[in-house]
Amino acid sequence: MVSYKELGLSNTKKMYEKAIKGKYAIPGYNFNNMEQLQAIITACIETNSPVILQVSSGARKYANQILLKHMARGAMEIIKEAGSNIPVALHLDHGDTFELCVSCIETGFSSVMIDGSAHSFADNAALTKKVVEYAHKYDVSVEGELGVLAGIEDEVSHEASHYTKPEEVEEFVKKTGVDSLAISIGTSHGAYKFKLAPGETVPPLRFDILEEVERRIPGFPIVLHGASSVMPEYVDIINKYGGKMQNAVGVPEDQLRKAAASSVCKINIDSDGRLAMTAKVREVFGTKPAEFDPRKYLGPARDELIKMYKHKNEKVLGSAGKA
Ligand SMILES: [Zn+2]
Repeated sequence: MVSYKELGLSNTKKMYEKAIKGKYAIPGYNFNNMEQLQAIITACIETNSPVILQVSSGARKYANQILLKHMARGAMEIIKEAGSNIPVALHLDHGDTFELCVSCIETGFSSVMIDGSAHSFADNAALTKKVVEYAHKYDVSVEGELGVLAGIEDEVSHEASHYTKPEEVEEFVKKTGVDSLAISIGTSHGAYKFKLAPGETVPPLRFDILEEVERRIPGFPIVLHGASSVMPEYVDIINKYGGKMQNAVGVPEDQLRKAAASSVCKINIDSDGRLAMTAKVREVFGTKPAEFDPRKYLGPARDELIKMYKHKNEKVLGSAGKA
């Protein structure tokens, strides 16, 4: 058993308290490889932003859980060496079983999500409570989920969304002892968030549901998943250089800015990073077809990721300067 405290990581408690008071949101950024992790920590050091490093079960399968753990440790050493003391949480994204949460906690995660949203309210509450009881013994934070987000993200996939029912949140939070709650107010996973008819614009997030949740559990940390904006400049580059992403559309950044100022204190952004990387790799392949050194296309992809994460911290989440 390795405690996250030995690794210099933080749980989310103080981070969320400060975020709610300061009216900003902390980025939840996922990583699966070295370039993504380097970009996240570089951007967050340079903008002096707290950060939640997220690992999904898909990432554990892709990159190997042992390697991911050591990458996160390495990231902490790099941050220290840079003279930075930004708070960093290492978080399991969309844990679906008690055993997976335990395995992460034992290997140094400071925060886990137990996503029981596919189950009934009673089963979700029971599973979440079981994880909370274990995690809290080690001071590890737990994120639960009520309501279902549409879209596809690694192994999480739902055709239709079900908005969170505000009348259920008090009971869920009280019953489970969970530290934060992901809710469904119109965001969704992936790069195809909304099916729009010609001339139709993206429907606004359901701020009425968010406000009702805030009224019922004032000051309680709320999390938004699936909050990429599917930045059109990246979709354009991808399509210009041979890609075929039709009707890719995300949540406008001004909606997220508004959410970040509320009790929403963590916003997950993954697809925008995937798009930024793919756009730059395609651009290099399209403009320099003789190039075959992976550093020559992964390097520019990493530079673009740094730029994109800094933009999110500074202009969307408001987390820059809040470490
Ligand atoms: Zn998610």
